[in-house]
Parts: sequence; C-alpha cells; structure tokens
Amino acid sequence: MNSAGTIKGQTGDWEIVIGMEVHAQVLSDAKLFSGASTAFGAEPNSQVSFIDAGMPGMLPVINRRCVEQAVRTGLGLNAKINLTSVFDRKNYFYPDLPAGYQISQYKSPIVGEGEVLIDLADGTTIPVGIERLHLEQDAGKSLHDQHPDHSYLDLNRAGVALMEIVTKPHMRSSEQAAAFLRKLRAIVRYLGTCDGNMDEGSMRADVNVSVCRAGGYDKFRATGAFEHLGTRCEVKNVNSLRFIAQAVEYEARRQVDILETGGTIRQETRLFDAKAGETRSMRSKEEAHDYRYFPDPDLLPLVLDAAWVGEIRKSLPELPDEKKARFVTLGLSAYDASVLVAERDTADYYEAMLASGAEAKAAANWLNNEYFGRLNKAGLAIADGPIPAKANSAIVQMVSSNLISGKIAKDLCDIVWNEGGDPREIVEARGLRQVTDTGAIEKAVDAVIAANPDKVEEVKAKPKLAAWFVGQVMKQTGGKANPQAVNAILKSRLGLPEEG
Ligand code: ADP
Ligand code: MG
Repeated sequence: MNSAGTIKGQTGDWEIVIGMEVHAQVLSDAKLFSGASTAFGAEPNSQVSFIDAGMPGMLPVINRRCVEQAVRTGLGLNAKINLTSVFDRKNYFYPDLPAGYQISQYKSPIVGEGEVLIDLADGTTIPVGIERLHLEQDAGKSLHDQHPDHSYLDLNRAGVALMEIVTKPHMRSSEQAAAFLRKLRAIVRYLGTCDGNMDEGSMRADVNVSVCRAGGYDKFRATGAFEHLGTRCEVKNVNSLRFIAQAVEYEARRQVDILETGGTIRQETRLFDAKAGETRSMRSKEEAHDYRYFPDPDLLPLVLDAAWVGEIRKSLPELPDEKKARFVTLGLSAYDASVLVAERDTADYYEAMLASGAEAKAAANWLNNEYFGRLNKAGLAIADGPIPAKANSAIVQMVSSNLISGKIAKDLCDIVWNEGGDPREIVEARGLRQVTDTGAIEKAVDAVIAANPDKVEEVKAKPKLAAWFVGQVMKQTGGKANPQAVNAILKSRLGLPEEG
C-alpha cells in the first residue's frame, strides 16, 4: 500500500476509506451521572454508587464538569456546539451494564460537525471532517481470567463519562488513520479533557474500513453519496497507534482479496487480534433499531447558555495548530514545528528553553538533532528526561555565543545527563571554553606541523588532507579550539588557498 492508500490488486487498483469512532474518557473527578470517583487502578467495586450499579429508583444527575469538558473538546475540534442536546437510553443486555441500558446521546448530540487537521510524515497537512461528539456512560468490566469457572464484574468504570467522537470517512491510509488519532490525542491533552492514555483504555478507537474501485472516493466527496464507497467493516477497540495501522492494512487487504475472488463484504463488527496481527469476525453489525433508543425520561434535555460556551471558548489554551503556526513565524520549518507541538510536554519543554534565553531555531535543532535521540535511546519521555529545559537552554546559548564548540556541547550534554549540574559552572570548572585565542591555536598548529613533516609534503598535492590536520589540532586542544580559527591558521601555515 502506498501513502495515498491505493492497493494494487489482481484486477486493478483499489482505494481504502476509513472513518473512526473514538471513545475518550472525560477527565473529571466524578462520573457522568453520579458522584463516585473515576480514579484509575482502585480496588474493584470500590467506586460504585447506587446509580452506577443500576439500582431501581435512583435518579441520574448530570455532572456539570463533564458537560464543560465535552464543550471544550468540541471547540478544540472546531466544531459546532449544540445548545440543546438530548440524552437517550440505548438498550442492550450485557452483564457489565447493570441498568440494562446505557445513557447516551443519539439524535441530538452535544457537538456537531467539525474538522481536525492531521500532519503527515511528508510535511503535508490534510483535513479530516468530524461528524459529531456525544456524551455517554462507560460500562463496567467483566473479568474472565480470575477464576476457572466464574466471571467477575468490576463496576468502577460503570458510569464514567465518555466522549464518543465520530469522524467522517475522510481517511485514506493506515498512516492517515494513525495520524488522526495522534492529533486527536494531542488536542485533548492540550485541552486537559482526556489524558489520552491508550494503554489504560482512556482512549479507544473503533476503525471502520472499506475499499472501493479507484475514483470512488472522489465521487463520494463530490456528491456525498455513500453508494460510491464499499461496504465497511468496523474493527473494535484498537488500543494503540501501531495496532490501528496494522488493523487497517490487514482489513483492507482482506476485503480486496474477497472482492477480487467474486465475494461480497458483509457489514460486520470485527476484532483485532494483536498477537496474530489480523482481524476476526465478532458479530454481524447491529442496527440502530436493535437498541430501541428513546429519550431518557429521567433527564431533561441539556440546554446550554451561549454565554457560558463563550466563556469556555475564551479559556481555551493555545492548541497544536496555532502553536505550530507561531513556531513557524519564529523561523522553524513546518516539519520541525509539527514535531515540537505533537505532544504538549514537548512544546512546553521547548518553550521553557526559549523563555530562559535560547534562540528559537538553535533550540529546535538541538532538541530534534541531539536531545530527542538521546531520550529515544533511553526510552524516556521528555518529562522524565534527566536534563531540565533550563540546562539544555544554557548549552544552546553557549554554542550560539561561541563560548563552547558544537563538539564540546555534546560532551557537556553527556556530563549533565549523567551527573546533573549547571552547564555553565561545568564549563568553567572543567575548562571547556572554546579556545578562540589565536596564539594558543597557532601553537597547537605549529606543533602538529613540526611533528608530521611527511604529511606536510603530502597535503600540497592532496589538499583534502587538511581535514586530518584539523583533527590533530582539535585533539591537541581537547576539542576546544574554534574550528574556523583552526582552519584559517592551518591554511595560512601550510600555504593552502583560502577556498576549498
Ligand atoms: P454506526 O453508528 O452504525 O457505527 P455511523 O454511520 O455512525 O454508523 O458510522 C460510523 C463510522 O463509520 C463513521 O466514522 C463513518 O465515517 C464510518 N463510515 C461510514 N461509512 C463508511 C465506509 N463506507 N467506509 C469507511 N468508513 C465508513
Ligand atoms: Mg458505531
């Protein structure tokens, strides 16, 4: 598959089309309709109110904080906020759903259409349409692996507020699907509305995949008619960016193989098996009428005050796209800027470096070319790295002002990484300042020339050998000599031309 998502089949080209439904757990201390705690990792069934346990006669009371978080997220998705929305009961029987229905929003969600820009590896940015965002309760958890012949239930998660974010089928490749989820995660983290921790299940994606003949997607976009797209399959609860890419690739290929051998795609719900790297049929797709949706008689329609929504809008932080645009005005390339804003922690770290005096481009280069590599190798997130932003800023500033050479900057980074300490003090204490004193450099150059008469003869015929002399002089000065000064002095002493 190429980046545009075309699959070359036996009978011609196929296009992949992807739409996603993402469940994002709302960051809030209490649940959507009860005061029970939402803290992760507590003793099973220690955070369950009568409401969450589906006791008869209990009345739900909406949590204002959760509503605010949904509105904040909707604004961050550039979406329409619906001032009136309705909670419905979605009825189904499952042991982890004690009430026998989930309170959700169906026909009138709190947030309508919006748009997210996704950043691709080739530096381009494309829009993905958002269909809606609605609020709903999470279910509890069935534990099947704790006892040989019993299943256990943990209702701590039951009733926790979820935002279900539904995209339009606007993604065209596994790369775009992963990029969407990465961007969505960044946005909710910037907003503080979901922690985005996929491995704890705070963000889970259902990925809808279909394939159609080349040109079908453009017809769909031109007319809005879904008949130009293929039948989709929904892959449930994919919980990492890597798995999303794998699930899309596998599923699209599976569908092409079926279609090319004369089969048809059945709309169904499938499961991604991470170990096998494949999707497997779970059940045929349920239709909305199977759920017997109706407005929850215990809850009034949710009516928001436009002024309150306006207050929330005013309180939004600078989001990744705006931050990226601002970084570009500081002289960064679009690519470097998008790397720095991709995670809020990274952007905060970078900005702390600027705040303590580092120049924008130099700081970005230092992070992208040096420090991130070290963090990656050590498997550390930026927040857990051993060098504070202020210290990296000091290193960058010392290079910019020619106080230390680029080579010494790397050594200094090693020292601060391993031993900690103030980079400026270390430079003074260990005598790491760059030698710009021409007298000292001349002395080192002369010593190298005197010790290597044969090489001096050779370099006249092979000017490239000058690099060897530079290396020797740097060695003599412990890497502290200013390389430009070494070059200039060497060339004049060896009688080489200035250029080349
Ligand atoms: P449901 O609620 O029954 O799952 P929706 O109409 O809400 O169905 O669509 C769910 C998701 O499926 C949306 O993200 C949508 O973009 C996506 N989708 C719909 N049709 C297709 C298709 N032909 N190919 C890929 N994705 C699709
Ligand atoms: Mg669905």
